[in-house]
Amino acid sequence: MFDWKHRFQPLLADLESGGQEDWANRIADQLHRRFETNPHGDLARWNDALSQLPVLHNVEADLNAPAVTLKTDGPLNPTQQKDLEAGLRGLMPWRKGPFDFFSVGIDTEWRSDWKWDRVAPYLSNLEGRRVLDVGCGSGYHCWRMAGEGAEQVIGVDPGLLFLMQFFSVKNYLEAADVHMLPARLEDLPGKLEYFDTTFSMGVLYHRRAPLDHLVELRDTLRPNGELVLETLVVDGPEGYSLMPEDRYGMMRNVWFLPSCDTLLRWLDRTGFRDARVVDVTVTTTDEQRSTDWMRFQSLQDFLDPDDPSLTVEGYPGPKRATIVARKG
Ligand code: SAH
Repeated sequence: MFDWKHRFQPLLADLESGGQEDWANRIADQLHRRFETNPHGDLARWNDALSQLPVLHNVEADLNAPAVTLKTDGPLNPTQQKDLEAGLRGLMPWRKGPFDFFSVGIDTEWRSDWKWDRVAPYLSNLEGRRVLDVGCGSGYHCWRMAGEGAEQVIGVDPGLLFLMQFFSVKNYLEAADVHMLPARLEDLPGKLEYFDTTFSMGVLYHRRAPLDHLVELRDTLRPNGELVLETLVVDGPEGYSLMPEDRYGMMRNVWFLPSCDTLLRWLDRTGFRDARVVDVTVTTTDEQRSTDWMRFQSLQDFLDPDDPSLTVEGYPGPKRATIVARKG
């Protein structure tokens, strides 16, 4: 079965030695519930896939390329090659990436590297910083943050397949101070004030209480820490936000799509300062699409075929803003 105790041990030890015993104990309880009391029905299958990945030595990573890339000296032998591909296929669908595992390229549903390229120029230097990535998906951006010099990166995301995809990389980079927890932001202790930079990308619109999400993000940061927020927005005046009647672009659980000015007001009211919109980009069907590694429907199927500027429900199509702010 999934050896969660062993896999999370380095992070727990790290947090304990950093004076975060309470958090470490809380994580241990949460993991126990998640993996022992009520394990996910697909966990054994995903764990088999993870176990199939070949053991390789002298692995090096390139965390600054568009694809998070793992390399080793010389080519894999045919058995290793077969096991690698079968293991990675067993962790489909792959949504956030791309990755390159020893020359097996994983073309994910999302070009998450494009988002990173839009965000990275506006960050404070991550060198030596402790970073939290809320809603980290497969952990793709966590690795890119480490590539930018972050001292420690912790990603949190409740999705267990994402966690297994994260471990498929972490398997080969055990020493990296990059970690992922199968948790929601709300599961973290209140007032952590532990991180220098906190990212929340693609999460805010999934929250029924977006202002509470912003307060929770603020509480993860040390004074003067930096927030990087990326979310769906709509055109409109300050004060305006769109709440879809039901689904938005076929997605369930979409609650508030504010205008940029509304979002800035929300940040102001929840204790951030110097908030600035650094990027607004319409999501295209080149950035989010079905691939050989994610064979379900994707953005193209979620837009109105007669007018692709609208979702199938008739709402404005997805447009995303990135905002950088400081904890006030
Ligand atoms: N940050 C990545 C992935 C965005 S997808 C990117 O921008 O590319 C949104 C992710 O948020 C999903 O993986 C979902 O599981 C996660 N999520 C949703 N609600 C969350 C919450 N309350 N806390 C943490 N993660 C959450």
